[in-house]
Amino acid sequence: MKFSLVAETLGYMENTTKRTELTKHLVDLFKITPPEIISKVVYLLQGKLRPDHEGIEVGVAEKLAVKALSKSAGIPVTKIEHEYMKAGDFGQATATVLGQKTQTTFLKEDITVERVYDTLFKIAELKGGKSQDMKMKYISSLLNDASPVEGRFIAKIITANLRLGIADFTILDALSVAFTGTKENRPKLEHAYNVCSDLGRVASAVAGEGFESLKGFQVSVFSPVRPMLAERVKTPAEAREKMGHQFAAEYKLDGERVQIHIGNDKVVLYSRSLENITNYYPDIVEKITKSVKSGKIILEAEAVAVNEETGEFLPFQELMHRRRKHNIAKAVKEYPITVNLFDIMFVDGASCLDMTYAERRKTLERAVKEDAFSRIMPMTIVTTDDEVEDFLENAINSGCEGLMLKQLDSPYRAGARASNWLKLKREYRNELGDTLDLVIVGAFYGRGRRTGRYGALLLAAYDEDQDKYPSICKVGTGFTDESLDQIYQILSDKIVVKKDPRVDTSLEADVWFDPEIVIEIVASEITLSPIHRVAMDGIRKGSGLALRFPKFTGKIRFEKTPENSTGVKEVVTMYNSQKKVVQGEKQF
Ligand code: AMP
Repeated sequence: MKFSLVAETLGYMENTTKRTELTKHLVDLFKITPPEIISKVVYLLQGKLRPDHEGIEVGVAEKLAVKALSKSAGIPVTKIEHEYMKAGDFGQATATVLGQKTQTTFLKEDITVERVYDTLFKIAELKGGKSQDMKMKYISSLLNDASPVEGRFIAKIITANLRLGIADFTILDALSVAFTGTKENRPKLEHAYNVCSDLGRVASAVAGEGFESLKGFQVSVFSPVRPMLAERVKTPAEAREKMGHQFAAEYKLDGERVQIHIGNDKVVLYSRSLENITNYYPDIVEKITKSVKSGKIILEAEAVAVNEETGEFLPFQELMHRRRKHNIAKAVKEYPITVNLFDIMFVDGASCLDMTYAERRKTLERAVKEDAFSRIMPMTIVTTDDEVEDFLENAINSGCEGLMLKQLDSPYRAGARASNWLKLKREYRNELGDTLDLVIVGAFYGRGRRTGRYGALLLAAYDEDQDKYPSICKVGTGFTDESLDQIYQILSDKIVVKKDPRVDTSLEADVWFDPEIVIEIVASEITLSPIHRVAMDGIRKGSGLALRFPKFTGKIRFEKTPENSTGVKEVVTMYNSQKKVVQGEKQF
């Protein structure tokens, strides 16, 4: 299959913001894609080579890509750099340069999807001293045969700059329409995706073996399961309304969610966003197998920093010292943790997802032998509000954030935020209640003490229906000098010349970023705003929703992808629940 078909689709999609149109472009492409290579097409559309959890990344430095382009086009590096500065986008610069070159070239070999994918894969696998030369050779050979539009997207993919951000659910919708004729079947595709977290695999199955084959998707060790998420409640009474008379209350610890896969003498750990985080936690790899009786098992836990002397749980910031590439052994010693198991997804060769919570908890207790390192999450069954209050008090006193409340008779709903799991935090009682996890999309330079750093950040929520990032507030408080420096550094390689098309705001930031970094914010209230764009026109024409008195809590949520940030619907729910007390205000 010609790569130009993929490149053209990406080109159309770049100029489209309506989800229905995006889906239609994808449907047209999928219909003409041979099933043997549809997985490759799906990965490339998202600028990937494999699902994220496999950790295979192309990521060639732009400098090297510039050199490769110079070599294949026979145009000096300085000229290419000039084009790049002018266009502000390496993909566009590549297209321009190749356009100039094509005027003198007439014989060209078609480039196929297979060739692009396989070459990129080889580049991703190259490591070590001589790899730079080889990478350059591969890139220039591809660009040599590429048309401007093909070159544009190859350049974007190899430098990890394909910012279309085609969301997983848009691809699932398109697969459903292309291969079953209707969007109605998307839940079945989604189920397959939720248990394997590999869109390419789902695409191959539905295109190659047919819709029925999706039934065969089962939970298996080393394929991470998309995690179940919780809704928030403010009071035990509200929890009771949603969950009935009796439910489980567990501690909600303030650490990092870890999905632990054990099998064939191997342990692999996945984060909440399903990134492979095994390297950060050699202590879990070493110690967990001592507590687990079954050979093949998938467990979910919260890893939490602890004070080894007192056994106290420490705040999340302590644990984040473990997120480093070097000196890991030292960090393991300095920041000890415990692993607090709260769910089981697979054991004895079978999935546990369809078991009820009560059955899963029993299975977990049977499968794990606790020790000082591997603990089972404290849990109690509650029937009255007072019992919830008492357990919440205990949890807070032990250093927890609050409680997770779980329905006893409900299955594990992979990939879903549902009311079978609720989170109840202490702060919920005052002000806004919960914290929000928001994406940094822009920044404003600081003055005075903050000269040379950012004085305020522009934050956005995620609009799942539109795949957009509408702005919700500017935040300049809650930062320490240390956190300001850290954020400045982290953001330095996320800077983009032009605002990402998915970012929706009326403000002009001094600097724009790729929407990638998520931080935690508290605020006093959600208000209608003529400036910010969350739920624009949804509550009042011409107004969106904004945060009043937002403040950074000190937490950079490294474990969250921008799609995991607080959603527009959640913000609307929070807005409506604070408004319940005001008579006559419109709800939606
Ligand atoms: P939040 O990130 O505020 O939406 O809260 C959900 C997170 O709480 C999960 O992703 C886990 O990392 C964490 N957590 C802590 N304790 C538990 C628990 N007992 N059950 C489930 N999740 C927990």
